[in-house]
Amino acid sequence: MNQRSLVYKALALTLAGAIVFLGGCKADEIPAPEGYVDIDTNLEDVDDTVTPEEDLHLAEAVPYVEPEAGETEEEPEAEVEEEPEEEYLVGYMTEKEWKERHTGSASYIWEPTVIISIFVDEEEDLWTEEEKQQMLKTCRIAYDFVADTMKEEYDTETNLIYDWEEDPELAYSIRVYEEIPAYVTTKQEHYMDGLELEWVGQVPYRELCQKYNTSSVAFLYMIPHEGCSYSSMHFVEDGDQIWNEGCLLYLQDMYSPTYEYETPTVFAHELLHLFGAEDFYDSAEVFSKETYDTLAEVCSDDIMLRTFTKINGVYTTFPDEVYGEISPVTAYLLGIGDEDVVADMPDLVRTEAACFPGSMTDRPF
Ligand SMILES: [Zn+2]
Repeated sequence: MNQRSLVYKALALTLAGAIVFLGGCKADEIPAPEGYVDIDTNLEDVDDTVTPEEDLHLAEAVPYVEPEAGETEEEPEAEVEEEPEEEYLVGYMTEKEWKERHTGSASYIWEPTVIISIFVDEEEDLWTEEEKQQMLKTCRIAYDFVADTMKEEYDTETNLIYDWEEDPELAYSIRVYEEIPAYVTTKQEHYMDGLELEWVGQVPYRELCQKYNTSSVAFLYMIPHEGCSYSSMHFVEDGDQIWNEGCLLYLQDMYSPTYEYETPTVFAHELLHLFGAEDFYDSAEVFSKETYDTLAEVCSDDIMLRTFTKINGVYTTFPDEVYGEISPVTAYLLGIGDEDVVADMPDLVRTEAACFPGSMTDRPF
């Protein structure tokens, strides 16, 4: 094929293609695709998402028919009542607001207080059921004593919510892979504070506070061997540091020559710390010598002064009762009664009830 005949052939093919193409533009012969609107209708602002069928319906006048009850007509949106924002804890909208409270997590002795027991199982030393029952028995003697004394001597109702036999949600077990020291030194205390914080983070204290309608909560960290029990208190100037207040309670008393079980007197003493009671013995080294001398005299039977006695030089404890009393000075520190009882002890005067003034770091606990 020569060059010219190639040109003619190309021309012929182009013409044929043009005819086929023109034919393809005839709308009446090829069905419009869905959603297609013929621009020849000259309608302005045509909505090209509307199918021709829908367009037709829109154009017709449709008589209004009352929808029958029960038909699937869309209900008008019901007015949704705005749900109140959830409080962080009863009476406190935010955690920050709660932690600005001077008293720490346990507030006042007269407020209902949820007391959550955390049984710490060590790698080599697990709590037995019998030992747990021993701790519960001691709690009952100690906290009944506190409640009865408050009511009978200070006309103050209390509600210490701790009995995990009545409500199993009040007790938990936590496993650790280390041994908790029998005696926690001042240096180790920060480490223990960190552990306690972790343990508290694993128990539903907010839910329990909601359940008992209170924002006052304390923790008992139960250690399955002998040791020297102590409490972690909140100090006003510590802000939200060491906020969770609790007692670290050992199964046995390390000072007892026969490792007797920790006593109700110690349980009561430690609990009162959480509500503002101070140690009255001079080795605490917080107050002046004069104050300790006066305390030894006017509070000689107070459980904040001593939790044991010596009989013929032998360290002696009392397993089935609280040995001692709650004096008016301790009651004052809890926020009950007036300042007169500490008139001779100016370093015991409190501007804030039921909490420790100053900062934890100033104090040799
Ligand atoms: Zn103490």
